[in-house]
Amino acid sequence: MKDFNFFEENRMKYKANLHAHSKQSDGLLTQETMVEEYRKHGYSILAFSEHEVYTNTTEYDRGDFIVLPGIERSIMLDNETFHIHGIGDPGSESLYKHREYIPVPEFTGISDVQNIINELKGKDNLVAINHPYWSCNRMSNVESLRGYDWLEVYNHNCEVGNGTGNSEIYWDHLLWKNKRVNSIATDDNHNSHRYMSGINMWDSFGGWIMIEADELKPQAVFDSLKEGKFYASSGPIIHNYGMRNGKLFVECSPCATIQFKCYPRRGYSFHSEASDLTEASYDLRGGETSVRIICIDEAGKKAWSNPFCLE
Ligand SMILES: [Zn+2]
Ligand SMILES: [Zn+2]
Repeated sequence: MKDFNFFEENRMKYKANLHAHSKQSDGLLTQETMVEEYRKHGYSILAFSEHEVYTNTTEYDRGDFIVLPGIERSIMLDNETFHIHGIGDPGSESLYKHREYIPVPEFTGISDVQNIINELKGKDNLVAINHPYWSCNRMSNVESLRGYDWLEVYNHNCEVGNGTGNSEIYWDHLLWKNKRVNSIATDDNHNSHRYMSGINMWDSFGGWIMIEADELKPQAVFDSLKEGKFYASSGPIIHNYGMRNGKLFVECSPCATIQFKCYPRRGYSFHSEASDLTEASYDLRGGETSVRIICIDEAGKKAWSNPFCLE
């Protein structure tokens, strides 16, 4: 495989939370407050993913902050829930209208979940399967669905709330089955008083993606999302990764562990007791078809590269 850098040297990366609930659904804060809070915390991009209600507005956009169109749709089978995420193409004329309510369909089978994915795709949304671990999704069901773009690898609300935020095992399963999906990390913040009385930011600022784009404009950012030009994180920074002199490499903020997860040869992990790993490279053993990279800091927080294909 030819040498490449996944990220370009001089292109900006913007911090984004694509999964958030305001008072417009079951969140505690107003959209205005959330925009202010995320801006103050160094974010440039937010998407309001209200349950069954589409947000499609430019009213919060300014030079240093944009809101992408989006929604979280749901459907329920016994104890298995499906929450399906849509992030809309800002340039599309097919998007749902601002504040449009889309009713929850009745569940008769897994094809009803597929229909939601198809509807969202048909209306020019990028689609994610949200928090499959929290949702108690059967692996076979997630695997049977088609046409979605992302899995939500990390959901901060689910992680802090009840330890079901990390859905990495679903992602690996899909990759091992040759389904090339990317992954996002999000807050899914509701800012409620549920777990910590008096504190309502406990589920904010814990999961995000860093998007590489030419400029902070809705269309440019959406195009980068579509291209997969981002990585997910709950802490560490990934500066770059790719192939150099025939070896896989990654450069990151100081970490305790760096993992190259390759299929089907499993890959390799580098460890440092001093948590001072800022780069690592790995010689392929031959026969690997896909790889993704995970950087883990001293506190156990992770950053996840999108997977790339070696075939
Ligand atoms: Zn959800
Ligand atoms: Zn949600």
